[in-house]
Amino acid sequence: MKISQNLYVRVPLAIALVAVLVALLSSTLSYYIGLQEKKDTNYLLVKQLAQTMAKTATISAYLNDGELGQEIISGLFSNDLVQGARLDGEGEMSISSDGLNEQQDGIVIPLIHPFIDDAVVGTLTVYPDDKYIEQQAQTSLKKEVALILIQSIIIAFFVSLVVHRWLTRPIQKLTDSFATINPSVPKTMRMLLVKQGEKNEIGKLTQGINSLMHELHLTISNERALREKTQELESKFRLIFEQASAGICLLNEKNIITTFNPAFLQYLSVAGQTDLASLHFPTLLNDVDKLEKLLLSIRADKNRPQVTLDIECRIGNKTLWLHCLFAKLTEQRSNERSGDQGNLVEVIIHDVTERAEREFQTRFEADHDPLTHLLNRRSGDKKLDNALLYCLENQQNLVLMMIDLDKFKPVNDTYGHEAGDKVLIATAKRLKAHFNLATDLCIRWGGDEFIVARQLMNVDQELILEQANNIIAEIEQSIYISKDTQCHIGASIGIVVAPKDGKVLDELLVKADDMMYQVKASGRGQVAFYQKL
Ligand code: GH3
Ligand code: MG
Repeated sequence: MKISQNLYVRVPLAIALVAVLVALLSSTLSYYIGLQEKKDTNYLLVKQLAQTMAKTATISAYLNDGELGQEIISGLFSNDLVQGARLDGEGEMSISSDGLNEQQDGIVIPLIHPFIDDAVVGTLTVYPDDKYIEQQAQTSLKKEVALILIQSIIIAFFVSLVVHRWLTRPIQKLTDSFATINPSVPKTMRMLLVKQGEKNEIGKLTQGINSLMHELHLTISNERALREKTQELESKFRLIFEQASAGICLLNEKNIITTFNPAFLQYLSVAGQTDLASLHFPTLLNDVDKLEKLLLSIRADKNRPQVTLDIECRIGNKTLWLHCLFAKLTEQRSNERSGDQGNLVEVIIHDVTERAEREFQTRFEADHDPLTHLLNRRSGDKKLDNALLYCLENQQNLVLMMIDLDKFKPVNDTYGHEAGDKVLIATAKRLKAHFNLATDLCIRWGGDEFIVARQLMNVDQELILEQANNIIAEIEQSIYISKDTQCHIGASIGIVVAPKDGKVLDELLVKADDMMYQVKASGRGQVAFYQKL
């Protein structure tokens, strides 16, 4: 037989079982202990009876009175507790009851002489009726045991009933109503309704569970609302990330791309490449050293969480200008996104090629003469200043030549202004061809006036002179102003060398100008040094 696992069955059953077992055990024990006691009591009674009759029996034995003796024996025999008796006198007197069974032990009482203390006149032997005594004891004990058993069973029944009603059944109801609760289904999270006095332990337990559930319900509802909000936000951010026009990527501490959005792929993928993850970002942008240093400094500098940089790079066969924003992720953000990768840098890039080209064009136009494309006077002046400063600081020399075309006006007058322009353009090209080092400067100073400058470690006047004469010779080469018309132009050059001739640009310019006008005055087409070496 399978017993239910439920407490409300098991507990009352266990109580009843234990009560019956204890009742059986205690009644069995009390039966055996009681039986012995009853027997002892009855034997004592028989002994007392025999002692009571002993006086009369002594007289009967002393007088050798058989009749009295017979009466004593009959009297004793009439008692239910006595199975038989025998009176033995000094003489031949021996009276015993009928059917006496002398096999069993009897209570022997010596009959003392009425006048002589230590003389015995006979013995009175009384045999208790063991069978009767045992039966009587058993009958009365059986009743007692039955009573104990009935009492125990009644008590067990009521205890079980009380336990069932007040303890196990409410617990079972509590359990049943608890079993219907499913935290993932809010509808089922209702209050537990167990009809119990509110002040007992189960009532308090129910109240406790209810308030816990209330809190849990609130927490779960808040959590759910929060999760929904987070999911909504996440999908919004994802949408922004996926559809952003800016390219976004994350770099790990080795500057490897870990995540990127579609715009990033669009900007930086070369034909056929669809995955940029695990590529080295600085290498991808063809500027390894500069970018590595920059990223290192962002990571190391706490006060510099982000840096912007415009980078010109070649991707495939196109040149791009990318405006990059490098932002170090704060520890919290970086942990959320990358677990233990740490030290992440977020890169946001915009393709600013068009804008950069426009700016470049604008800057070029601002700094250059529109006709000859040489530096204009404003930017030329600034660059000359910088070059002079550099030479002064680095113990170098700056050779500055002021060049003015000879008799240029007549070209204009003879062939027209456009022809004059062509002469200016051709002259600028020839100057540029001569002064083609990165640090060389070619400036259209104004009208038909040009300045060229070169930085030199050592000044060799002969060499400079030769170069200046070469320039003049070059300028003097014929220039085609139309398909079949050529013209010739000459040039006069005044030369100053810094720091020898001065350390201030304006002073140098005045001196060079003076030299150039001296040449003009002395017949043109010559070179004049401010000061011979
Ligand atoms: P000199 O030998 O003494 O230098 O005399 P010049 O004829 O060269 O005349 P000068 O240097 O005094 O004047 C330069 C002339 O260049 C004045 C002006 O008409 C002309 N000019 C200035 N700017 C331009 C230009 O942009 N285009 C053209 N075609 N002519 C210009
Ligand atoms: Mg001139």
